Amino acid sequence: METAVDLGQRVQEFIDSLASVPAAVSEEDNIDRLQHLERAKRALAAAQAKATHAFVEQRQENEARLRITTTEQLKGIEAEVGLARGESPFVGAALTHMAIALGTVLPNTYTALAEGRVSEYHARIVADQTNHLSEAHRKDIDALITHRLGKASSSQLRKLIEGHAYRLDRKAADQRAADNARRRRRVCLDPAGEGMVSLTAELPTHQGLAVMDALKKRTNKRLVALLRRTSDGTAEADTTRISRDDLMADVFVEALTGQTTANSVTAEVVVVMHDTSLLGDDDVPAWIPGHGPLPAGMVKRWLSDPQAAKFFRRMYTRATDGQLVALESKRRHFPEGLSKMLTIRDDTCATPWCNSPIEDADHRKPWAKGGATSWDNATGLCKRCNQRKENRGWTYSGTPDRLMVPTPTGHQYTVPTRPPISQLRHDTTDPPMGPIDIAWRTAA
Ligand SMILES: [Zn+2]
Repeated sequence: METAVDLGQRVQEFIDSLASVPAAVSEEDNIDRLQHLERAKRALAAAQAKATHAFVEQRQENEARLRITTTEQLKGIEAEVGLARGESPFVGAALTHMAIALGTVLPNTYTALAEGRVSEYHARIVADQTNHLSEAHRKDIDALITHRLGKASSSQLRKLIEGHAYRLDRKAADQRAADNARRRRRVCLDPAGEGMVSLTAELPTHQGLAVMDALKKRTNKRLVALLRRTSDGTAEADTTRISRDDLMADVFVEALTGQTTANSVTAEVVVVMHDTSLLGDDDVPAWIPGHGPLPAGMVKRWLSDPQAAKFFRRMYTRATDGQLVALESKRRHFPEGLSKMLTIRDDTCATPWCNSPIEDADHRKPWAKGGATSWDNATGLCKRCNQRKENRGWTYSGTPDRLMVPTPTGHQYTVPTRPPISQLRHDTTDPPMGPIDIAWRTAA
């Protein structure tokens, strides 16, 4: 039987052979290559799905043999799959569910993927969109859509599956829509780059349409009033520069914050910034923990707004690499200052590739086992990663500068942990392992 080492060798040979392929001589040849390589990628995705499914089955067998109860089995496997593929536990969960579905209830989609007829992205749509259905209905849909795989666009595929799902189980579809209307509604904020964020709301269709309709009506009213005032000379607006999108954004902010103008919105925002950027002309941008970088000039403009209340807190860093400092407490719970430092150092959950926001300051060595409530023993984790590390085989270890994450199969993943803002200024080599010797103070 071929071992992982043999397979690794063959994969390396394939990678080497790709690197030595001479440049294509024509446009046609390049497109042909794209198609061949796409086929290979799809077949590789099928092989990964097969390995994932086999891993899950083996883990389940082994745990059953160890008399681990069914409800306790397979804990944390989504993170193990994610780590092996360099993805977050969230993506790892989707890939694991897809792999299980392809190996059990979606045989046609699996064959299409293995033969290179459908992309992994589209196979994932089939798995995700049928995830809530019974096994029998998933098999039905797999058979019903097989002729469209690789031909339908992603949105056509989604709608086709949705239509079949509604048809096959009308009662369940009605029930789910009613449940979603109660439970799945939410509003979330994500960074959108270049100093912007994206604020999204998940709502039942009629509510979403009503919000958009109200926004459009108010925007139109304001636009008409503005144009009227411009034409009768009471406003100096340059009509060629009035953007409807811009006005709608104003209406949106004003309606939700109750402010009379969008620019005077009140909110508390923590921004990390080097003094050399704040007071001088350093090119290191500012950083909002959990969200990412912002142009320094933009933050300076905010701060220069006479209406904005500002609070400064000085945070000391190690000169060589920008790591933050030590703080220790006898208490079980992390003091607020230390928790804040953690969110600045780790930015998002420290588990490799996990993008979730930090929710818990975690004792790497548990407090119950004598772990200190200290900077040296603290890691910022999301809720799920914090819970997962209670399971067998996950004993996080490390220092303030790096985190080691072992998994039940004996694999270990190590990531440096330093404030991301420090990585913009200091060199990008792995941080030293020495002890931290800098004190932490606050200045009001
Ligand atoms: Zn996490």
